[in-house]
Amino acid sequence: LFAQRAEFLKGVVAMDGLPPGDRLEICFAGRSNVGKSTLINALTGRKALARASNTPGRTQEINYFTLDPIYLVDLPGYGFAKAPVAVVAKWQALLKQYLAGRANLRRAFLLIDGRHGIKDVDEEIMALLGTAAVPFQVVLTKTDKPKPADLEAALAATRRKLAKYAAAYPELILTSSETGAGLDTLRATIAAMVSD
Ligand code: GDP
Repeated sequence: LFAQRAEFLKGVVAMDGLPPGDRLEICFAGRSNVGKSTLINALTGRKALARASNTPGRTQEINYFTLDPIYLVDLPGYGFAKAPVAVVAKWQALLKQYLAGRANLRRAFLLIDGRHGIKDVDEEIMALLGTAAVPFQVVLTKTDKPKPADLEAALAATRRKLAKYAAAYPELILTSSETGAGLDTLRATIAAMVSD
């Protein structure tokens, strides 16, 4: 799957802009600055596919990438402290509609910073995913940064919090876009979904 070149398809700001749901898709969600753009770029081997930018105005779109035969979907980062209330409200509404209404969405990868673990805003998203019955899997990012003991602690805390979400996969994927750790596991996980 990842041998091919992923291509940007379109940025979507409203439900009626979504491409036809005629192929399976997976999405990536996470707080602003979690390392989502960097991870998508690293996964696809494309340096600037997803924009690594934290400018609120630029990150409110749902970005679609094609990786035949599926779509990779980059959801706007959430929890950006400086985003205006109206922007946040609009984004939340779109996110809810997307998660609840996208039948071809097979799995959400929820990115969590390996240094910080799960925050309240992440739990809000998990609750939303649960309500929408979208299975989700946690991907820890930036695992090159914390000391091993701190990473272990974050891992244990993350597992404890995940236990209460029925929609959550118990397996966490530990990644670093810096060292490349875990990227093959994540690619293989996505590829396995496609061949199912
Ligand atoms: P986004 O807002 O979630 O798209 O986050 P970005 O991809 O823009 O990354 C935010 C910051 O974290 C940038 O300065 C990245 O260079 C840095 N970063 C992203 N991934 C990693 C990683 O795996 N390891 C380290 N050490 N830094 C990372």
